[in-house]
Amino acid sequence: LLIAFEGIDGCGKSSHLRRLAAFLRRQGLTVVTTREPTNGPFGRRIQAMFRQRNAISKREELELFVEDRREHVARCILPALAAGQIVLTDRYYFSTAAYQGAAGLDPDFIFTMNRFAPEPDLVLLLQAPVSECLRRIRENRGEEPNDFEQEAQLIRVSRCFQSFTQPCIHRIDATGERKLVQEQIRALVRPLCR
Ligand code: C5P
Repeated sequence: LLIAFEGIDGCGKSSHLRRLAAFLRRQGLTVVTTREPTNGPFGRRIQAMFRQRNAISKREELELFVEDRREHVARCILPALAAGQIVLTDRYYFSTAAYQGAAGLDPDFIFTMNRFAPEPDLVLLLQAPVSECLRRIRENRGEEPNDFEQEAQLIRVSRCFQSFTQPCIHRIDATGERKLVQEQIRALVRPLCR
């Protein structure tokens, strides 16, 4: 079972992923939690790229994300799925289509480039207004949003996410109380674990 958490920065993906993993483990299930960009060689180049903005072209940036995912799929996701484990990933190819799509590349082209990656059984797309996400980033992480987290940029990314129509995508209103949001997530995941 492969479940991807998607959404803009500050929507609560990472926190809800952790809570879902703990819940599933309490049921005795084996859960692998993972994230993109990874800590592998391509993922580290992506982190370096975030530090020195505009160092490479949008197209090269896209290729780095895709190479990072190729490795992530081969080394982590496919082996875990083959072992019958539940994989929860914090970001997947929908993020690439949304972020690099918002940067001007064609989301459909990006989806095509990612056809090697197994399609998730469920994509939990956490949705909250950009202003609310920026507020959470400032409050919860005690940091100023970085360059990637500028408001106008996030609005474009959010619109891109909204435009996706794959049937595996379930939209979750992430503005409500954390407990209620997590309940909605569990209600969607529970039937898939039987
Ligand atoms: O998941 P997390 O919020 O830690 O993502 C790290 C950063 O990478 C975020 O600031 C996000 O805006 C950026 N990102 C990106 N393109 C992607 C995925 C993430 O620019 N495809």
